[in-house]
Amino acid sequence: MELLRPSSLDELDGGVFVAGGTEVVPLLRDGILQTTSLVDLRAIVPRGVRDGRIGAGTTLAELESAQVPDALREACRLAASPQLRRMGTVGGNLLQSTRCWYWRLRYPCRLHGGDRCHAAEGEHREHAIFANDFCVSAHPSDVAAALLALDARLHTSRRNLPLAALYRLPDEADRRTTTLEPGEAILEIEVPPAEASVYLKAMDRRRWSFPQVGVAAARTGARTRIAFAGVAPIPWLLDGETVDAATPLPRTAWKVDVARALLRRALAELG
Ligand SMILES: Cc1cc2nc3c(=O)[nH]c(=O)nc-3n(C[C@H](O)[C@H](O)[C@H](O)COP(=O)(O)OP(=O)(O)OC[C@H]3O[C@@H](n4cnc5c(N)ncnc54)[C@H](O)[C@@H]3O)c2cc1C
Ligand code: SF4
Repeated sequence: MELLRPSSLDELDGGVFVAGGTEVVPLLRDGILQTTSLVDLRAIVPRGVRDGRIGAGTTLAELESAQVPDALREACRLAASPQLRRMGTVGGNLLQSTRCWYWRLRYPCRLHGGDRCHAAEGEHREHAIFANDFCVSAHPSDVAAALLALDARLHTSRRNLPLAALYRLPDEADRRTTTLEPGEAILEIEVPPAEASVYLKAMDRRRWSFPQVGVAAARTGARTRIAFAGVAPIPWLLDGETVDAATPLPRTAWKVDVARALLRRALAELG
């Protein structure tokens, strides 16, 4: 396998992108991802925070102490472990793959192009309670939920789009969970200011744990946006619906109660 280190966007031409490598390297090791060229983005993707714009190459550790809204800072602080936060970038975090154990063990499930959802039929305690009719995986990014509540926009090497438009629910015709095209790099994330924002997370243990449920809430004027991690195959914006709209599986009903309780607390903290 070759490692390419482009120094300008014009040099991007295929291959698998890598930033911190905390997701790409395990996927390569486990044979889930295969490529002959790995493209190190670090010289071309901006890093750091300026005027409400976050370089996609900024690490989660850097965001923990940056001038960003509270919800984002807290989502970064609660994610993964200190070592992973020092390596992992915000761009890579938004694009991390599902933690569904069947997918990680390479079961030929729907997200791998097959015709069954092994989790729906099997062990799914950690899985989705919304939008779970095709694939019941639960999106693991705390950071994406915070940025979704904050109504962030992405600037890529090809377009500008609301973060919500980065994600799509997988279906029979297209199994992808993002709309990013091959060769398209996320460059910056634009985060509008919020008057108040909060991120709360329920975890199996107090550290180094993916969200069972994470809730982000951001208030600007009379408007409050709410987004969840760990409840749907993509980061989930509560858009004109309530937690009552959840469609839990036999062993995920507990998540509905957790989501409701976290949301109540988040709204109380927002004031
Ligand atoms: C044990 C463990 C625990 C974790 N716990 C949590 C947690 O609790 N909460 C949470 O939110 N996350 C968690 N994570 C995820 C972690 O935060 C991400 O792995 C990390 O942020 C990914 O960033 P990276 O730079 O290492 O990505 P990489 O591994 O370099 O890349 C990840 C993906 O993004 C693509 N990519 C990277 N940068 C760009 C870009 N700029 N443009 C286009 N494509 C790009 C890559 O091609 C790849 O598909 C955990 C990870 C591990 C391994
Ligand atoms: S939940 Fe999604 S990723 Fe997991 S087995 Fe089902 S189809 Fe595959």
